[in-house]
Amino acid sequence: MNNPMFDLSGKVAVVTGGGGVLGGSIARSLIEVGVKVAILDIREENLNIRVEELKQLGGEVKGFVSNVLDMDILKNTRKEILDEWGRIDILINTAGGNLPGGTLEESQTVFDMKIEEFQRVTDLNLNGTVYPSLVFGKAMADQGEGSIITISSMATYSAITRVPGYSVAKTGINIFTQWMAMEMALKFDEKIRVNAIAPGFFIGDQNRKVLINPDGSYTERSQKVIARTPMKRFGDIKELNGAVQFLCSDAASFITGVILPVDGGFSSFSGV
Ligand code: NAD
Repeated sequence: MNNPMFDLSGKVAVVTGGGGVLGGSIARSLIEVGVKVAILDIREENLNIRVEELKQLGGEVKGFVSNVLDMDILKNTRKEILDEWGRIDILINTAGGNLPGGTLEESQTVFDMKIEEFQRVTDLNLNGTVYPSLVFGKAMADQGEGSIITISSMATYSAITRVPGYSVAKTGINIFTQWMAMEMALKFDEKIRVNAIAPGFFIGDQNRKVLINPDGSYTERSQKVIARTPMKRFGDIKELNGAVQFLCSDAASFITGVILPVDGGFSSFSGV
């Protein structure tokens, strides 16, 4: 028998960046437990592929071409979702990630960093979560309940080479998560909770090249990651889904403002 504490069926979720690897996996897992899912993504082609794939599961899913950096577009998307489903219970902020121009080459120093690329990557990874949290969080404030999930990173516990803008923005996500959690519970309703998951290392489209050699072996960077991970492996993308569902469910009714690492122990191990 299913435990009702974890029941999410009938809820409405918004997944930003749902055309991507992690957002797609989280969206799938929510549909599988009976959640209606709105997928938002800026890349129409990826969005359409994802929505068609998820429709095969038999649940309710709708795709919206949207931009997490545009408040007007987000507000229009919110209206369309509310017109369709009447409420928004869950927001998963997966749009984001490092951008090629925001990554320093091994041979570069911080003084080679292009300021416009630094701004682009910090904008996407910080404001790209702040804006949707404000727009969809307002629907939650109006209805008196809801759960927002943000995506932090291992780059916020200690410094990781080559990704300065991404690291700064994701560290901003941590305090934004705590701040928004405080604001919602203090000024609106304790049933509006805001929490982060901090994924460890999962092979995705954005990091495949730096972690896996063309012949399938681990790069030097990968080997360093594995050496610092007590479980001695990369995460399987599906291993984020349980943490997300737990934080969104009544089983976590007294949990808000936490940053939950899902990392095989990476963040708790000194390496020695
Ligand atoms: P991904 O590139 O596969 O997916 C990101 C999606 O966001 C893409 O579909 C992209 O089109 C969309 N997007 C980009 N800009 C957008 C915008 N302005 N508006 C709307 N959509 C936009 O990346 P992923 O690996 O699934 O990562 C998702 C999140 O998880 C990111 O925040 C990333 O930083 C974080 N993360 C990933 C890992 C990992 O190991 N893959 C680890 C830690 C954190």
